[in-house]
Amino acid sequence: MSFLHQGAKKRLVIELRSKGINDENVLAAFEKVDRHVFIESFMENKAYLDRPLPIKYGQTISQPYTVAFQTQLLKINKGDKVLEIGTGSGYQAAILSAMGAKVYTIERQQGLFIETSQFLEEYDYKIFTFFGDGFNGIPQFAPYDKIIITCGAPNVPISLLNQLKINGLMVIPLGVKYQKMIRIKKTAEDDFFEEQFGDFVFVPMLKDTKEINN
Ligand code: SAH
Repeated sequence: MSFLHQGAKKRLVIELRSKGINDENVLAAFEKVDRHVFIESFMENKAYLDRPLPIKYGQTISQPYTVAFQTQLLKINKGDKVLEIGTGSGYQAAILSAMGAKVYTIERQQGLFIETSQFLEEYDYKIFTFFGDGFNGIPQFAPYDKIIITCGAPNVPISLLNQLKINGLMVIPLGVKYQKMIRIKKTAEDDFFEEQFGDFVFVPMLKDTKEINN
């Protein structure tokens, strides 16, 4: 990694801290994971600014602060089994993986799924990638300790609540035009505790899959 990127990355971590991110494990993961390799090369010089950036297929890599905030809300422990909805560039999944989580991530756009799966493998990330509609989760590997949704959800999908362990946490940006960040704790099989944290803007969570030639 160039000195330029290294310096920019250190400044980003300081910025995240100043904006209220205080989970040292989250900050350490931001130190570890190179964001500039997850975006297209012509934007590399913006990689460590606290901004969302466009990726392929009309999607977005979330703003670093948003990634850090959602990750902090998840209270990740080493070995946690985490389901992510919306693989996108793979950056959020890489951050979780760098924190020692076992990550399962699902993407509805086939082209993005293929490219990101190859990319993560090339970079030696041990992350399980899936092509499908995240509204259904990935039941064959459930239950999960944590579930993170990285697109704006119109509602809380029941199937995802079902795939959460008791005492597990789900972080979901809820809303259509803009989203309220919600954390849900599953306190018993049919009992949930919900907290709300601020407004965010995400690309929408859409139903069904989008095949490569469609
Ligand atoms: N976590 C990603 C953020 C990508 S933006 C990153 O770190 O880069 C959100 C992603 O969610 C997009 O790639 C979009 O295609 C995907 N998405 C939207 N609805 C979905 C659904 N129902 N199932 C799975 N992925 C979905």
